[in-house]
Parts: sequence; structure tokens; C-alpha cells
Amino acid sequence: MTGTARRLFVLQYGAERVGKFLSLRGGSARLGWEPLFGVLVDTEDGWVLLDTGMSRAALDSADNQAAYAAAAESGGADPTPVRGHLRPEPPDPARWNWGLAGDPMVAALATVDLAPADLVLAAVSHLHLDHSGGVPTLARAGVPVALHRHELEFARSGAVGLADGFHAPDFSDPATTWQLLDEDTEIAPGVTALTTPGHTPGHLSFRVDLPRTGSWIFTADATDLAQNLLDRVTCGSCAGGTAADEEAADASLDKLLTVAAQTHGRLIPGHDQIVTAAIAHPPGGHR
Ligand SMILES: [Zn+2]
Repeated sequence: MTGTARRLFVLQYGAERVGKFLSLRGGSARLGWEPLFGVLVDTEDGWVLLDTGMSRAALDSADNQAAYAAAAESGGADPTPVRGHLRPEPPDPARWNWGLAGDPMVAALATVDLAPADLVLAAVSHLHLDHSGGVPTLARAGVPVALHRHELEFARSGAVGLADGFHAPDFSDPATTWQLLDEDTEIAPGVTALTTPGHTPGHLSFRVDLPRTGSWIFTADATDLAQNLLDRVTCGSCAGGTAADEEAADASLDKLLTVAAQTHGRLIPGHDQIVTAAIAHPPGGHR
């Protein structure tokens, strides 16, 4: 570690309804809501935002609703209601996704009295639309976005589209200033991007080192749920779809567990209702 960040805030942008099998290899068809959250970090360089939620355009898209429905049905979609632990709860349980009113990233930043232009940097774990939705807004605000080089190449390769969770407007705006990463990189004092490919070819996790609470390891979709980490089960879907992608996902899970052991860090899965509720920040943030 070469630096320490000052504090962090957990911003809940919304939620999405998905089958367990998308989060856990071999998981059930049971449908449940998974929170969409970002991490806002106060650093010596300024404010840094990690992951940006789903855009208003994607939330309101009928094609996107249909893509979520098709994904759920592909796994057998068990509609048995699953008890929710989100605050706030998604207002319409019949929809597939929900986000804060207006531009969800702007609305979430406003809860801590910030606007996109107050950020010095953002980073996205990968280009699935539930993480990259804020990128066009960041482009308009002049905020650079860190991303793994392979992720941008894959999203633009033509191999994947909306049915696979890639929403082209998120990564097509020529005004976006990408900061493309090739390896583990400290992107701001106390904020390190960790390469964790598998779920997607350029997937990143993030480690945030704080002065009082130590290391926080945000795994994003390398492990959606605490159960991935408890039972050492890889993510349920690999966008690349090859055996090599599955091996990479397996190695990334090991890497996250190793980093946590070495740093005595807190592993925070990317879409777990219980954990997301448990890490709600106190007034003034986690320090
Ligand atoms: Zn994803």
C-alpha cells in the first residue's frame, strides 16, 4: 500500500431481479433482488467513484426488461417470492430493475451533497449495464473513467450486446476519457484496482485502504453474493463463455480470498442484499 484514502460512502443506485444461477455456478432458478451500489471514496487527490449503477435509459428500456426476463427464463425462473432486505425496497416487484428517480448516479451523489463534476476520477468494474450506466453522465462532466483495457475491447468487439448485459450507449460516447488499465493499479491514494477476470474478460475489483477500518475489498461481480465466498463458488456467468474464462473466474476468486487474508480486509460482494445493508455508511462515512 502506498497511500490511504480518507473515508468511503456506499451509494445505493437501485436493484435488479435475477436468478441465483447468474450469481452462483450451479445455483438455483430462484429469483431475488440484488442491490446496485457504488462506492464513493474521499482521497488526497479528490473524490473517486467506483461503479456507477444502471442508466435511466437502460432502466426505462423495454428491450432491457425483455433481456432480464429472457435471462431469468433461461434458468427456469422460479417465481417463489424471496424476502427482501433492501432499504429502500424496489417499489414495483413485477419489474426486473429499479433505480433512483432521474439519473440514479446523480441522485445517489446528491445524497452526500455532491455532483458528478465534483469527482476527479471514476472507475467501473466492468461494462455490464448495471455498473456502467453513469459513464455518459461522467463524460459530460469531464470525469475520466478507469477501466481494464480488455473490457473495452470485448464490449466493442461485436461479440456481445444488450441480451448479454452490454448497453452500447454506456461505452460509445466519444466524449468519454478512458483511463485504460493493464494490471493491478493504485488509481488514487488508497484505491487499488485489482484485475479479476472471468465474469467478463476485463473485470476489476477494488481495494480501498482506510485509516481506521483498514482494507475493504469490493469484489463487484467476481462474487455477487457472500455465498460465493463462503462456499468458494465462482460467479454463475462468464461473458466470454469459454473454459479459459471459467478458469480465470476461479483464479480471480482465489486472488480475492488471498488479498483478504493478506490485508485482513473486509470482502464485500457485489450484489448481496444482507451485506449491502450491513455496510450502510454512518454520517460522515466509514473512516
Ligand atoms: Zn456483471
